[in-house]
Amino acid sequence: MTAAIIDGKAFAAKVRAQVAAHVAKLTADSGIVPGLAVVLVGEDPASQVYVRSKGKQTVEAGMASFEHKLPAETPEVELLALVRRLNADPAVHGILVQLPLPAHINADLVINAIDPAKDVDGFHISNVGLLGTGQKAMVPCTPLGCLMLLRDRLGKLAGLDAVVIGRSNIVGKPMAQLLLADSCTVTIAHSRTRDLPGLCRRADIVIAAVGRPEMVTGDWIKPGATVIDVGINRIERDGKEKLVGDVDFASAVQVAGAITPVPGGVGPMTIACLLANTLTACCRANGLPEPAGLTA
Ligand code: NDP
Repeated sequence: MTAAIIDGKAFAAKVRAQVAAHVAKLTADSGIVPGLAVVLVGEDPASQVYVRSKGKQTVEAGMASFEHKLPAETPEVELLALVRRLNADPAVHGILVQLPLPAHINADLVINAIDPAKDVDGFHISNVGLLGTGQKAMVPCTPLGCLMLLRDRLGKLAGLDAVVIGRSNIVGKPMAQLLLADSCTVTIAHSRTRDLPGLCRRADIVIAAVGRPEMVTGDWIKPGATVIDVGINRIERDGKEKLVGDVDFASAVQVAGAITPVPGGVGPMTIACLLANTLTACCRANGLPEPAGLTA
């Protein structure tokens, strides 16, 4: 059996089109233009690529994009002052501070200075608490994207056994909360987990968010299971640089029922969900109904 390939690129394009259609109607009906502010501190090359891509896709969706690029040596107090200005700016509905931040800046302090209603990354402690208690939250973009792909593939997730490999605040933990909220039976695995292959073999859903190239092999997968590969790892193979996930695609695709590729799986969903979150934040700020299907 060969797994169905979950086309995250195509699905993300659909999400972006849905967002753009909703934004066009919102702006035509009320004159409101959703705005996303992205703050980049320093010159990390990967972050620069992400920020450029975010800005471009924000504008393509009909939203306003505000980019703030600050030098690496920007004092923490200055970044906090910018966050406060963005919190107070009515044209800004979403604020994203690109991580990682330089070592002299306390990232938790900065994230928790963002108005939770504008926290489109869903990392503010209030949103973490809201998600964990089943209340309306801003949901982190990558896990939200994974959830959308899973619901699209499997319909209702209730009762399914899910293993999330990785317990980061950005992916693993919120992913587990979302699956729990959809009534999966969830196991969170990490570097100290015993018999990870055995755990995975019992799972209907495996989410790999580890950062270790091709760690999850086909013999870890239950036949027919759905595999979501969040990992993005750059490796060298045959003298060329290659992007691979945390799942060994070649062996897993022989066993799984459905699987996301890398690239072209979860990756494109992250920015699509960032746009969806910005639209959701804008609707909430203006007391308007939220777009259907774009939130958890
Ligand atoms: P972190 O490094 O923050 O977390 C990695 C997790 O994997 C940790 O919980 C760690 O366990 C666990 N882990 C490490 N080694 C093992 C092992 N041998 N067995 C089991 N668990 C292990 O990473 P992130 O969550 O930020 O990212 C994970 C991956 O997802 C990365 O490849 C990253 O690039 C990618 N990513 C992709 C995104 C996208 O848009 N597609 C967005 C965000 C991330 P412990 O806690 O015990 O150390």
